[in-house]
Amino acid sequence: MQDLRISLTDRCNFRCQYCMPAEVFGEHYEFLPKPALLTFEEITRLCSVFSSMGIRKIRLTGGEPLLRKNTPKLVGMIRSGTQIEEVTLTTNGAMLRRYAMELKNQGLSRVSISLDSLNDDVFREMNGSSIGLPDVLDGIDAASAAGFHPIKINCVVVRGKNDQGVLDMVEHFRHTGHVLRFIEFMDVGTRNNWEMESVISSEELISMISVKYPLEPLPQNYLGEVAGRYAYKDGAGEIGFISSVTQPFCVNCTRARLTPDGRLVTCLFAASGTSLRDPMRAGASDEDILELIRGVWSRRTDRYSEERSAQTNLNEWSAARSKIEMYQLGG
Ligand code: SAM
Ligand code: SF4
Repeated sequence: MQDLRISLTDRCNFRCQYCMPAEVFGEHYEFLPKPALLTFEEITRLCSVFSSMGIRKIRLTGGEPLLRKNTPKLVGMIRSGTQIEEVTLTTNGAMLRRYAMELKNQGLSRVSISLDSLNDDVFREMNGSSIGLPDVLDGIDAASAAGFHPIKINCVVVRGKNDQGVLDMVEHFRHTGHVLRFIEFMDVGTRNNWEMESVISSEELISMISVKYPLEPLPQNYLGEVAGRYAYKDGAGEIGFISSVTQPFCVNCTRARLTPDGRLVTCLFAASGTSLRDPMRAGASDEDILELIRGVWSRRTDRYSEERSAQTNLNEWSAARSKIEMYQLGG
């Protein structure tokens, strides 16, 4: 295990079709009640336990992590109260204008911002909310002004939805120093109407982009890095591709995940997790929790994406599996 993602909340101000479709997560959907969520003190304590196993990087995510009250304070608590050296954040950017500077001041190392289109109509259609593109672009500017660099811009490409805008995204982010990363639409959870036909492979995107802007591969930054890194040959910067559907990387996966209610999950496509919150609230010591984490991690056998690749009917096979939803795992 090398890194840990913590989903701070199952709530979100967006309803991205590929994550929390509005028709499923409507007005009456019951999200976790507040007492079920890990408190900031519990999160910090768990970070400390994970750091005693050698974990040095934590990513805060969600749901929308900036919806949790006082997320910058949590960043500060983790940085000052544990051995964790890098706290990073994945956000939809809509509230970043308000929090960017505070996050920086509390010691956040990096920020990744999700953005699926530069066309406001397509953007709203994909995010299923009334929040428009200017708020997110403003959030990116605010993060940049606060000193975050480089900023990663994550774009999930769904065939027939935002694929026409891929080159616009490329052109907008070339030369900015931000690293645009295209993510293959994944069959996380069971409620996002995933089908293989909607996935645009990284290979297809690379071929398409290269016609206009030739690319060359860059070496991995570290073993287990999920994005394939490329450079524009004309020196316009870096671009990345995350291909977990067409090029599964289970074998090198070193990532653990914590759900908002404190379940440790060992795979993005897992059906369940192991509660760390319950033993903690029942009085377990740090050593007990460490033992529990070590046991879960050493017994893991997950290789979902590799298994999916071996199927002839991917859609049926995927739909029949029970899986935790994306907003509980944080991507
Ligand atoms: N709300 C924050 C955001 O959107 O950045 C953080 C949580 S979100 C679950 C984390 C990342 O997962 C986002 O970049 C999002 O685009 C990506 N994501 C969500 N559902 C996905 C799916 N089905 N396939 C691929 N990526 C997905
Ligand atoms: Fe919210 Fe992020 Fe999921 Fe979109 S991808 S619904 S912004 S949690």
